[in-house]
Amino acid sequence: MMNNHAPLLLFSTFDALELGVLILNGKGEIALWNRWLVKASGRNSDGLIGLPLSIAFPELKNTRVEQAVKLAIEKDQSSFLSQCLNRAPFNLFRLHNNDEVPLRMQQQIQITPLRQFDNEQFCLIQIQDVTASVIREQILQERAAELHRFAYQDGLTGIPNRRYYEEKLAEEWRRAIRQKHPLSVLMIDIDFFKRYNDQLGHQQGDTCLQEIAKALQAALRRPTDIIARYGGEEFIVLLPATPMAGCITIAEQLLDAVRELERPHPDSPHHIATVSIGCATSTPNRDAEASVLIQEADLALYFAKQHGRNQLRDSQS
Ligand code: GH3
Ligand code: MG
Ligand code: MG
Repeated sequence: MMNNHAPLLLFSTFDALELGVLILNGKGEIALWNRWLVKASGRNSDGLIGLPLSIAFPELKNTRVEQAVKLAIEKDQSSFLSQCLNRAPFNLFRLHNNDEVPLRMQQQIQITPLRQFDNEQFCLIQIQDVTASVIREQILQERAAELHRFAYQDGLTGIPNRRYYEEKLAEEWRRAIRQKHPLSVLMIDIDFFKRYNDQLGHQQGDTCLQEIAKALQAALRRPTDIIARYGGEEFIVLLPATPMAGCITIAEQLLDAVRELERPHPDSPHHIATVSIGCATSTPNRDAEASVLIQEADLALYFAKQHGRNQLRDSQS
């Protein structure tokens, strides 16, 4: 296996490796380190030989790398430090980096005991540059979050969409059964919106929809309240743990929030853009169905329209 060139070959291989290699002696002093590490640390290659690890690399003081080295030398144990928990223990920077600001290298570190030479325990530290995969992972995570956002967000108004509402309704219905809490629903519909479009054009109609969506969303205070665009010019609000009285108070606030926009409507008896709201409350149980609650809110909305719009009705009146 070995020939005359072997020691030289081993040494050049050591320096040609595309990973950082650092060998410590039994006292934790640097015995050897390769060219990759010299370059990545930007340090002088000879200056560190013989220095204790945490003097040579002060950033390692009290880190898991220091503990792992101790374990290797004293207890003959290997350790693997993934980049998830220990992103960049060594002060190392990307080797092939064209950016003006050097990029701190994300590292995966393997620490292995080496028992050799008159039984002296050595310790091998291998450092891999995983920056590229960390960045790739971040990009993938951001894309997944973006896709999630798009899947549940209404494109025109930016508020949650109907799919989001459907999932939340099922969730909140089950929660209300478990906690024996009432669940309230508001069905909201813009008044005379066809006329608004006919008079002012579809683009103005879209802007009006966006403004009303924003005003409704802003008027909801509790983080658990949920609003979504239900259909064309219809919105739905879920109010968990809210009895009828609370639901009516909130519906009144929403009516006001839209009135306060004072958006002129040239073909409405109210002269401004308004909404009508149907309210319904239920204390869910296993025999009841969420769809009945929605139908009740829908019916109440119908009565609000019948009675002149720009008002609320509840399912009991
Ligand atoms: P009501 O007071 O009885 O609710 O009358 P309405 O005119 O609001 O109701 P109708 O159902 O007759 O018409 C709804 C209108 O909403 C029709 C449609 O042009 C408009 N609409 C629905 N979605 C959009 C949208 O995304 N953008 C715009 N600009 N208009 C929309
Ligand atoms: Mg409608
Ligand atoms: Mg309408």
